[in-house]
Amino acid sequence: MVSSVSDWVKDHRNEAVKLLQELIRIPSPSGHEKACGEKVAEAMRVAGFDVARVDALGDAMGVLKGSGGGRSLLMNGHIDHVPTADMIEPYSGRLMDGSPFGSPGEVVYGRAACDMKAGVAAMVMAGAYLRDEGILLKGDYKVAAVAQEEVGGAGTMSTIERDQFLADVVLIGEATNMDLCLGHRGSMKMSVVIRGRSCHASAPERGINALYKATDLVTIIRNDLIPHIPADPLYGKSSLAITMIEVKPGAFNVVPEECRFYIDCRNTPNYPAEQLYSDLQSLIKSQSMKDPEFNAGVLPTPLINGQKSFTGFYTDPKKFPVVKEAENVIENVLGKMPTRKTWTFATDGRLYSWLGIPVIGFGPGDERSAHTAIEHVKVDDFLKTIEVYASLAQKVCA
Ligand SMILES: [Zn+2]
Repeated sequence: MVSSVSDWVKDHRNEAVKLLQELIRIPSPSGHEKACGEKVAEAMRVAGFDVARVDALGDAMGVLKGSGGGRSLLMNGHIDHVPTADMIEPYSGRLMDGSPFGSPGEVVYGRAACDMKAGVAAMVMAGAYLRDEGILLKGDYKVAAVAQEEVGGAGTMSTIERDQFLADVVLIGEATNMDLCLGHRGSMKMSVVIRGRSCHASAPERGINALYKATDLVTIIRNDLIPHIPADPLYGKSSLAITMIEVKPGAFNVVPEECRFYIDCRNTPNYPAEQLYSDLQSLIKSQSMKDPEFNAGVLPTPLINGQKSFTGFYTDPKKFPVVKEAENVIENVLGKMPTRKTWTFATDGRLYSWLGIPVIGFGPGDERSAHTAIEHVKVDDFLKTIEVYASLAQKVCA
C-alpha cells in the first residue's frame, strides 16, 4: 500500500533534516559549488533518480523518468549562496529553537538555510518519496540544483543552453513563506558619470570637484525621482537604490575629475528602462541649467559580478491553469489557501518564463531572513514543502 506523503515525511523526518544540514555544511559561495553539487547528485542517486549528474559549473541535474504522455515538471533551486559576512558559525547547520530569531519552534540555522538549500533538499526528498512508494508518473520529475544564481544565473543558463534541461512546468523553490509566488519585477542597472576638473587638493578652488557635483545629483534623485516612480497593480512598487560610487583619479590629495555612481532599479512594466533613462536625463538637464559647472551623462553599466539588466515576469493564472492546480495542492497540504504574491527579489525563474514556460514559486523560509546574519528555516515548513513538492509532481506529471 502506498503511504500518504505526510506519513512518509514523518517517517523520514530525520533523514530529511540530515540532508539539509549536510548541504549547509558544504560551503558553496557563488563560483565554488562543485562539492555541494556532487553531494546533491549523490543524494539523488540514493533517492533512486534515474539520472543524476553534475556539470562543469557544479550544477546537479536529476531526473525521475516518467512512463510517457504526461506533463514534465522541473524543480529549480540554487546551491550557491552570498558571503557569510558576520554570521556566527555559518556552516553549522545547527538544529535549534528559533525564538532568538523571532521564529519559535525548531529551525535549521546557517548560510543558505532558506536561500535556498532547504528548497533543494525538499526537491530531492520529494523524489525519494515518489521512488520509495513506487508511484509511477507519466511525465518526468526533474531537479536542477544550480550554481551562480546569486551572481546573474550562469548555472541555470548553462542547464538550459547546453543541456536543454527544460520541462512543461517549472517550479522555483526560493523562499515564499509557504505562499505562491507568480513572478517578480525586472532589474535595471544604470550608472551616471559626472565630469569635473582635477586640481591639487590644497587649492580646491582651482578645480571642479566631481564628487560634490555627484552628491548634488544623488540628493536630487532621492528627493525628486524616487518618491514619484509609479507602482503597478500586479508587482507593487518599483524600487531604486544608489549602491556604489567611485572617483577618478582617487588620490588623497587630488580633487576628483570624474565621479561615477551606480543605480539598481527594480522596475515594474509601467516603469521601463527608457523612462528611467529619460527621467535621469531631465534631472541632469535641469541641474545643468541651475549650475553651469554641472556636466553629467547616463551610461550603460558595465558587467559587474555578472549582474545585468533584465525584465521581470508574471505567470498569469488566466493563461496557465497550473497556477490553480498548484494552489489546490498547497491548500490540501497546508489546510489553507496560499496567497498569490510576487517576490521582492529576482530569481532564475525569468530565464524559463522568457521561453514561454509557466513558472510558479513555492519554497520554505521567509525571504526577510535571506542574506542576513540570522538565516534559518523552520523545520515544519521544510517538511511541509516536501509534501507540497511530491503532491505537485503527482498532480502535474500524472
Ligand atoms: Zn535565492
